[in-house]
Amino acid sequence: MASIFTRASARRGISSIQARPFSRALVRQKSALSPPYLLDDYLPKYQLLTSIQESKKRSEAYAHLSNCNLCPRLCGVNRFQKRGTCLIGSDVVVNTIAPHFGEEPCLQGHHGSGSVFFSGCNLRCVFCQNHDIAHQKNGFSLSPEELGEWFMKLQQVGNVHNINLVTPEHVVPQVVLSILHAKDLGLRVPIVYNTSSFDSLASIELLEGLVDIYLADFKVWNPATSKRLLKADNYADVAMESIKAMHNQVGDLSFTSDGLAKKGVLLRHLVMPGHEEEGKHIVRWLAENVSKDLYVHVMEQYHPRAHVGQKRRTTAGRARDVAEGTVEPGAQPADGEAKKAVRYEDINRAVKMDEVHSVKAAAEKAGLWRFCEPAEQAGFHL
Ligand code: SF4
Repeated sequence: MASIFTRASARRGISSIQARPFSRALVRQKSALSPPYLLDDYLPKYQLLTSIQESKKRSEAYAHLSNCNLCPRLCGVNRFQKRGTCLIGSDVVVNTIAPHFGEEPCLQGHHGSGSVFFSGCNLRCVFCQNHDIAHQKNGFSLSPEELGEWFMKLQQVGNVHNINLVTPEHVVPQVVLSILHAKDLGLRVPIVYNTSSFDSLASIELLEGLVDIYLADFKVWNPATSKRLLKADNYADVAMESIKAMHNQVGDLSFTSDGLAKKGVLLRHLVMPGHEEEGKHIVRWLAENVSKDLYVHVMEQYHPRAHVGQKRRTTAGRARDVAEGTVEPGAQPADGEAKKAVRYEDINRAVKMDEVHSVKAAAEKAGLWRFCEPAEQAGFHL
């Protein structure tokens, strides 16, 4: 357990608490699994809603579906009749529903995180690691009630530790309705909202009392970068507001004694090649404006995907990109030498370990101290 034991002392069965002299850092290490981060027991927040609160949530969800301004794209469409930027109507489109073992150890545990991968997205990240799911509408349609029934299958058949809603920013009303339906059916595991943080405050407010864990990304810092790579120049401003609102709702990440996360914010930052300075801005902002006790996962698994490294598009291909919202601003159709070049060449490589380490070092220097370590082969740890 990286937060409590050094690797060497863990092998010897000696905690770092015994091995090191008393210090402020030591008190903090010890408190990672002590109150207030250690819970005796945990009841998911949706279990505490009264029937009046549930009815209010339901009517708000339907109102948002009828005039959708629920994410920062502000389409204003009636989703029972029309689709906005996210391309999804009043039903959700789901690509995969299954216990997932690729999440943080404190979420996947031994039985997996009950993941629901939604198709569609309100961002257009050119490097999207789930491109085949998020940028296309591959999958099957489900009503909110059918989705709630799948949550029950994950709980009953998969014995999962939580319900993990992956890329849900554009289907928040349907998610609200599905959680309430599943509550009536007997759902009792925590809800994880696994988001890019391109959420509106109205959306986070609608989720209050329903979500236990916000698994939130903070992707890039500069507007020029987010405009070019995410197709949203206001990404960082939106993410800052959303993450603060999420943290106000559920606080820092807390665990039960089995090592499973039950409530709070788990913040992810995927270090991008050549963009480590933006990562440093992000971790400093988090420490200064959200919480120095924030549980942070500095991720190193970036790989070129989606549009990165593809051949430059011809005029016809570019027209398709414009329609999909994934064209480089100001880019010209490829001709001659340009056809040989690849798109987004600057991020067409894996991230280097020194880039990752520099972001982690900046995070520590800023005062952050609760970091997620990768899962070990057998079992899981904090
Ligand atoms: S959720 Fe979809 S329809 Fe609603 S504002 Fe966002 S992109 Fe537009």
